[in-house]
Amino acid sequence: MSEFRYCKLYEEWVLYAPQRLKRPTDLDNKKDEQPGELIHDNCPFDLGKEEFTPNEITRIEQDNKWKCRVVPNMFNALSVDINLESFRDKYFEKKTGMGAHEIVIETPNHDKQIFDYDYNDFINYFSIIQQRVSNLQLDSRLAFISVFKNQGKEAGASIKHSHSQIMALPFLPKKIKDLIKHKKAYYKKTSRALLDDLVYEELQYKKNIVLSNSDFVVYCPYASRNPFEVKIVSLKKLSSLSEFTQSELSSLSDITKEFFYMFYKALGDVSFNMIINNAPYFEYDEKTKEYFRFNIEIIPRIYKYAGFELSTHMTMNVIYPNKACSVYKEKN
Ligand SMILES: [Zn+2]
Repeated sequence: MSEFRYCKLYEEWVLYAPQRLKRPTDLDNKKDEQPGELIHDNCPFDLGKEEFTPNEITRIEQDNKWKCRVVPNMFNALSVDINLESFRDKYFEKKTGMGAHEIVIETPNHDKQIFDYDYNDFINYFSIIQQRVSNLQLDSRLAFISVFKNQGKEAGASIKHSHSQIMALPFLPKKIKDLIKHKKAYYKKTSRALLDDLVYEELQYKKNIVLSNSDFVVYCPYASRNPFEVKIVSLKKLSSLSEFTQSELSSLSDITKEFFYMFYKALGDVSFNMIINNAPYFEYDEKTKEYFRFNIEIIPRIYKYAGFELSTHMTMNVIYPNKACSVYKEKN
């Protein structure tokens, strides 16, 4: 079973999930094999293979066929079915692995990748995540929701069929706790959200802006940590997908679709992580919208983290954001 262990040296929790070792992979292929070929015939995410996934949590249907499903992760690192308990044995401290771990199966089509999605695919994707973000928020034991997509082997994906993951934790991870503290302090001083001000500066500077519409802006942040890293930020006072109207979901789908078209043209089929940053559940109220701004991070995994990154907790970026931005725009 999984558990959180507290590291006194770094003052942070580590999640242990030994059952994850057993999960299958179809991306651990040798050079010449086509990824996905190995288990294509028995991929549990395909249309008609629903019985091979754990009991479905929710789905979006069109013409009596599912377009998007959410199921519990079969190799879950966390479970909502256990009680949150803490243990301390002198020096050692741990908690049970209570939390949510779900899979969003983004499409019934085994070969369709995010670069191929049409507007409807994106609407279905963001709508089903919105449902889960809102629903898990009702569980008062959960403090934080992590929504992410690992695309490609270099980004940590183990199977090819397009999917995302949702993990909800019973506490704020240290990095998030520090970030929230920083954002709250900035708001206290200026009465504005930090990310709103950063976006304002980027819009004045212009050189890092990839795309924008009336509700969102897509840009390569001035001090981005990774090559070709992009942020999609809400221009409205929205802190979580749970607050989005239908028209805001539609606007987000439009700009995300447009960005992935540019991404594929500029970089091709490179591995990336996409992180959908919603306000934490912990202390969430009307005021959250004032200091926390909804955003999505897209981080291509072109260079591996190595010794420098591990020793300094600092990243080395090999391309300036304005250059990365112009590559996105030039190729389109
Ligand atoms: Zn499949």
